[in-house]
Amino acid sequence: MKKFAVIGDPVQHSMSPAMHNAVFAKLGLDCIFEKVRIQKGRMENEFASLRADYSGLSVTIPHKIAVMPLLDKLDKSAELVGAVNCVDFDGGKSKGYNTDMAGAVDSLKAVVGSLKNKKILVLGAGGAARAIAFGCALEGAEIGIWNRTEKKAAVLMEELKKAGARAWKQKEPADILINATSVGMSPLPEETPIDTDFLESSMTVMDIVYNPLETKLLKEAKKRGCATVDGLEMLVRQGAKALDIWLGIEAPLNVMRKAAERELKT
Ligand code: NAP
Repeated sequence: MKKFAVIGDPVQHSMSPAMHNAVFAKLGLDCIFEKVRIQKGRMENEFASLRADYSGLSVTIPHKIAVMPLLDKLDKSAELVGAVNCVDFDGGKSKGYNTDMAGAVDSLKAVVGSLKNKKILVLGAGGAARAIAFGCALEGAEIGIWNRTEKKAAVLMEELKKAGARAWKQKEPADILINATSVGMSPLPEETPIDTDFLESSMTVMDIVYNPLETKLLKEAKKRGCATVDGLEMLVRQGAKALDIWLGIEAPLNVMRKAAERELKT
């Protein structure tokens, strides 16, 4: 049997075990996905036993950066984002990836098709915003960053440009607006990260907050006729990318989504 786990602190809330175990059951794979709580500062001590016990790991707060120096190799996604959320222990070597990048890009492409030349405004400059912005930039989109702390937006924009990203000049409206802040999340679901007058019917609006599943921003976007993408889509697709890395399988997205929706309701 192959074993996988999500490591972090806290991990109790993680939806990864439900999503991955649902896929293993559906495809009849002899695999199991567990939750392992590892406290901040304990990664270095625990890494050897994790490596011995598991074929792959999902990595969450507070270990996404701490795990990096312990790995043999980093994928380009992890290097660009500067954080690892997926570790593969294939063939005795450990390699770190950032699957949020593919999760966001694949979610958008499923709705709008190619991202090439699309003008994308990302709200936020934290870990998720970085993954999304670099992912979209690699697809040939023009990127703009807005953040409450303006300095962080400027720093991220400079890093994006250094990596060859094209900046959105703001002369034309954005094609895609992405909320990559935590604004709108329960227990403050009435908040929106931006004045909703900014929304235009031609825009695709993605919110990576998934609790609630339909945020106020997405409700307002739908009212204006925008296409929308919810946060569960990104969560499911980053998990599907991890299953591709670990097992080389194309995971049934509907099975993962249903499992995640069940978890959200509990
Ligand atoms: P993070 O690194 O802590 O970044 C948080 C971001 O939200 C920063 O840009 C921060 O702005 C902004 N922010 C927080 N409170 C705000 C407020 N009251 N007004 C305006 N901006 C505010 O967190 P993260 O890892 O990027 O995660 C961000 C959100 O995405 C979380 O809700 C997380 O659960 C969700 N997420 C979802 C997925 C998915 O798959 N759907 C994946 C990853 C994360 P400042 O820089 O000004 O503080």
